[in-house]
Amino acid sequence: MNTIKNTPLALVTGASRGIGRAIAEALAGAGYDLVLTCSRTLPELSGLANSLEEKYGIHCTAQMADASDPVAMVQLFASLDHLDVLVNNAGISYIGLLTDMSIEEWQNVINTNLSSCFYTSRLAIPLMLQKHSGRIINISSMWGTVGASCEVAYSAAKSGLNGLTRALAKELAPSNIQVNAIACGVIDTVMNDLLDAEEKAALAEEIPAGRFGTPEEVALLAWQLANAPAYFTGQILGMDGGYI
Ligand code: NAD
Repeated sequence: MNTIKNTPLALVTGASRGIGRAIAEALAGAGYDLVLTCSRTLPELSGLANSLEEKYGIHCTAQMADASDPVAMVQLFASLDHLDVLVNNAGISYIGLLTDMSIEEWQNVINTNLSSCFYTSRLAIPLMLQKHSGRIINISSMWGTVGASCEVAYSAAKSGLNGLTRALAKELAPSNIQVNAIACGVIDTVMNDLLDAEEKAALAEEIPAGRFGTPEEVALLAWQLANAPAYFTGQILGMDGGYI
């Protein structure tokens, strides 16, 4: 894996589909070698890794690694000796009343959307310190900014992720490591497939842009963050078509 240390290396969690997959493709197109992870669908992720290697001439590895499991993250990072960009993308939603949510469900949402970013960041930072440079890009949500009814745990996790982003950016700015987040609005992925066509159309009408965002639009912004000026850090960038 990526033994030539001047080839930039990016790690994207939850890259088998949706936004993570689009970010992987954008970074591959920019010449990054990649480490991609998923929690369940390794054949799908391996297929993506192979196609990115063929299309862009990069090195890309696919690994099953549950982002909510700190031990799995230690195992994942054990094979890395450098890292330039960490994209904390893996996430899950939970729709329902808070009173209907079990403690296990609460912990799963918090661990997958928030604690996972602690698990990866604490392992990525020493690799970035070696080079005195690095980028951490967290995929957050507009619900972390304004809160959503029936998505209390998810809103709390993404709000926590925004706090983590701002605080870690201050901690790492002296080391030339930038930490930013993208607060996605409604992006057209499987995550919104619980809505039927009529509900999707009604929701799109509420969004000033008149439509859902695309994973490719989020990926473009992630790529721009990977290349943004070093003075740009600690920011939560809304990517929501003007929704909030
Ligand atoms: P998605 O469900 O299509 O993809 C989520 C990805 O994360 C999948 O590849 C899945 O396998 C992976 N994943 C889930 N749990 C994991 C775990 N424990 N370990 C490793 N991988 C795991 O959803 P998406 O819309 O592409 O979501 C990507 C990110 O964007 C998430 O963090 C999500 O919260 C955020 N987001 C999405 C939207 C939206 O409208 N789609 C809005 C706001 C924020």
